[in-house]
Amino acid sequence: AKRGDERRYATYLPSMEEQSLAVLNMENDLRLALAAGAFELHFQPKVSAETGDVMGAEALIRWPHPERGMISPMDFIPLAEESGLIMPLGRWILRDACRRMVAWRAQGIAPPSLSVNVSPRQFADPSLTETIERTLEETGLPPECLDIEITESVTSGDVERVISTMAALKAMGITLSVDDFGTGYSSLNYLKRFPIDTLKIDQSFVRDLMDTKGKDAAICATVVALGNNLGFTVVAEGVETADQARFLYEKGCHMLQGYWISRPLPAAAFTAWLAEMSEP
Ligand code: C2E
Ligand code: CA
Ligand code: CA
Ligand code: CA
Repeated sequence: AKRGDERRYATYLPSMEEQSLAVLNMENDLRLALAAGAFELHFQPKVSAETGDVMGAEALIRWPHPERGMISPMDFIPLAEESGLIMPLGRWILRDACRRMVAWRAQGIAPPSLSVNVSPRQFADPSLTETIERTLEETGLPPECLDIEITESVTSGDVERVISTMAALKAMGITLSVDDFGTGYSSLNYLKRFPIDTLKIDQSFVRDLMDTKGKDAAICATVVALGNNLGFTVVAEGVETADQARFLYEKGCHMLQGYWISRPLPAAAFTAWLAEMSEP
């Protein structure tokens, strides 16, 4: 999510005092929700552009709020980042995601890998690798089954430190994806230096892929080619139509994610989806 998203929550209210009060309330609500176990993970598949086989899934957090309905992560992740609540929240996300994967594996319906979003603040925390290692051990999930999605904004930190964290995760057997690729300060130099596996083309480029002006089509085609030439797996997110899927496949994109395949689903519904997909 972009910086400044946290303001969207407060804009319902007119005055400054009310705004900061709303943020305070929300921070407190977040704290309570975490303690009460009120968050949920939903799951969205990633499929092979060529065969349609399920290649992975992404865990996406949801907050069913008693008064406000389902609150979007774009409205509370930035606040969780700012308040530091992202640290315990992130640990919960990781653990719940790993547990789900272990259960799907036991049923023989698991995708090869599950992606978990890790925010910049979490990524900068020196205890991240240890937390992940411990969670994998405790849940019994093989590291190869875990993929970590980070945005380009992690690179705004100490680059050497970022690289050593990435290297530590890679050494464990975990894969790394760069999320929202093309929207941040993506330096080609970083692509060369970071030990990443996957580029995820941002959905803003996919959305207008079929525009007659063709700029986004050119960007998508170029990013797919760049990823292929550098030996990365390329995933397109936000794929909503068969036309988009076909275009991306023809350009060499490996995996597709988006409403065209499935919306993010609650765990039980996603389990049923996986079971259906793995029927012969
Ligand atoms: P993201 O990681 O880029 O996730 C992709 C977003 O696109 C998700 O929104 C997903 O529901 C949505 N999406 C998927 N397919 C389509 C499609 O075909 N069309 C459209 N229009 N949208 C699609 P969501 O779940 O609201 O999450 C928003 C952002 O919140 C995420 O963007 C990510 O930055 C953050 N987020 C979500 N879950 C987590 C989490 O567990 N941890 C952290 N740190 N951040 C999270
Ligand atoms: Ca993501
Ligand atoms: Ca993304
Ligand atoms: Ca995004």
